[in-house]
Amino acid sequence: MSLAVEIVPLLSDNYGYLLTDSQTGAAAFVDPAEAGPVLDRLRAKGVGLDWILLTHHHGDHVAGTAELVAATGARVAGAGADAHRLPPLDRALAEDDRFELGRSTARVLATPGHTTGHLSFLFEASGDLFCADTLFVLGCGRLIEGDAPTMWASLQKLAGLPEATRVWCGHEYTQANARFALSVDPDNAALRARAAEVDRLRAEGRPTVPSTIGAERATNPFLRAADPSIRRRLGLERASDAEVFAALRRAKDVFRG
Ligand code: ZN
Ligand code: FE
Repeated sequence: MSLAVEIVPLLSDNYGYLLTDSQTGAAAFVDPAEAGPVLDRLRAKGVGLDWILLTHHHGDHVAGTAELVAATGARVAGAGADAHRLPPLDRALAEDDRFELGRSTARVLATPGHTTGHLSFLFEASGDLFCADTLFVLGCGRLIEGDAPTMWASLQKLAGLPEATRVWCGHEYTQANARFALSVDPDNAALRARAAEVDRLRAEGRPTVPSTIGAERATNPFLRAADPSIRRRLGLERASDAEVFAALRRAKDVFRG
């Protein structure tokens, strides 16, 4: 079994993803911020679209849904808890549901914090995680509707996945995230090497996704609240991990790097 993942850049810095189950050709699109580039890609490949998967209700993740549905007849799946503020759902999803795309199966993870209803989709067999605005490469989403302990718990859930799991997030924010990460974790050699690699990729106009859970555990400060040197830098040696995470998130909100 295998799942093909294609990155489709949308708006100024969003990533949508075209997923194709190799055995059946069934196709889904994760987070259509706009329809035009998605339809262009489908036309270029000469394929249709069976499903639209929505991670959360923000316009920069759902705004192209109606046009895509009208053009392709795709059905829409997203959080049942947010059905009142998502495009009309053909399938309402919740934690631990299984979503089948041909022979590929995604496990649905509830990952609240950025929004209360935020979902992530984990294709366990291929090791692909679509986590939108929960976990970014070297960063995490802003706490728009959730509190820090809620987001920390969601990030812990993702950090516990197998290290090889590919992380496909919702935005290309990596260079700015790297500047903040280096400001709180400057002695982390893996982070420094990674920041240099990120700069190289961006200079070539290439995306920094996918990352992996292993790489994020080693370099993403928002997964490293237990790290002694980060704690020392924040003066929070005795705080809980969730408190350190909260301090990191507040610092990032006002960071001008
Ligand atoms: Zn969002
Ligand atoms: Fe977003």
